[in-house]
Amino acid sequence: MKIDFANIQKAYKEHQAEFEQVTLEVMSSGRYILGKETEEFEVGLNQFVGSKFALGCSSGTDALLLALMALGIGPNDEVITTPFTFIATGETIAFMGARPVFVDICEKTYNIDVTKIEKAITKKTKAIMPVSLYGQMSDMTEINKIAEKYNLAVIEDAAQSFGALYKGKRSCNASIIGCTSFFPAKPMGCFGDGGAVFTSNEELNDKMKAMRVHGQVQRYTHKYIGMGGRLDNIQAAILNVKLKHYQSDIERRQWVANQYSKALTGHAVIPYIKEDRSSVWAQYTIRLENREKVQSALNELGIPTAVHYPIPMHLQECFQYLGYKKGDFPISENCANEVMSLPMNPYLTLEDIEYITNNLIKII
Ligand SMILES: *Cc1c(COP(=O)(O)O)cnc(C)c1O
Repeated sequence: MKIDFANIQKAYKEHQAEFEQVTLEVMSSGRYILGKETEEFEVGLNQFVGSKFALGCSSGTDALLLALMALGIGPNDEVITTPFTFIATGETIAFMGARPVFVDICEKTYNIDVTKIEKAITKKTKAIMPVSLYGQMSDMTEINKIAEKYNLAVIEDAAQSFGALYKGKRSCNASIIGCTSFFPAKPMGCFGDGGAVFTSNEELNDKMKAMRVHGQVQRYTHKYIGMGGRLDNIQAAILNVKLKHYQSDIERRQWVANQYSKALTGHAVIPYIKEDRSSVWAQYTIRLENREKVQSALNELGIPTAVHYPIPMHLQECFQYLGYKKGDFPISENCANEVMSLPMNPYLTLEDIEYITNNLIKII
């Protein structure tokens, strides 16, 4: 047996004819950056997510940058987030010249511990950036409430949670700005880099729309300092096909996660999804004390695993200047030592899942 972790190739094969038709159309149209397909995609995104405005952009990282830029976040500002996430979350805050201020996570959901946010707020705090890690959203009601009290913006880093639901609301539409990624390995991936930024605030949307094209409001007339943050039209065409089939992908991912949880209950620390929300399972992540041993044994059996993420941000070399030290965020540090993600994609069969879980149970 050889299990594929994200099975990106199969996702291509499944709708190959459609992908090839739409990309050929873009290629022959001569319109490669933004254009008809991108506009269609943005309409589809708003319909799916429930937001008023969506902008296709060049990556999830650039979506976060556009959000921070539009909010005017820069030197002397602080943005609160968690250290247990992909580097882009903290990196974009630092890139703007602002200071990432970390708050530890909740051990069960791996998302920001809302009870610890208020203690981290100072006069310099401008925004909270919760991360919807592994596909499950944070406690957005509580976070928005704190933000309102202190007049802060909330940017959801929804790179892993596009399509997830929270109290009936879709991820990316649960705060003033939501940012997602269509990197190939994300739940809805394109065939290169891509992302989107969402808001229902017209002023912020106008600003981000201009900033996506070098702050341009009219050709060669620049109102803001912006960036080259546009989505390729070929990626938009591919994403239009992906979006059409995405609900079924989500359901298949949820089925896989349920099979894993059924088999692993009582054997490992399995993911915990709160009752008022759903996950799109960017990752199915368990916790183990003997992770390295389990990973190499599984690898020999043709079962790939991954660690998201082995080093929390406050212990990364690039963030040494922030002055954090080991022990500052013990839950994040423990999780970084113990988490392990199992193969997750819509194509895993019951046979695959039984092969993975039976072997895993034997090893742990
Ligand atoms: C993937 C990811 C990003 C960045 O997205 P890219 O499209 O790769 O730039 C940001 N935040 C989180 C939590 C991610 O998982």
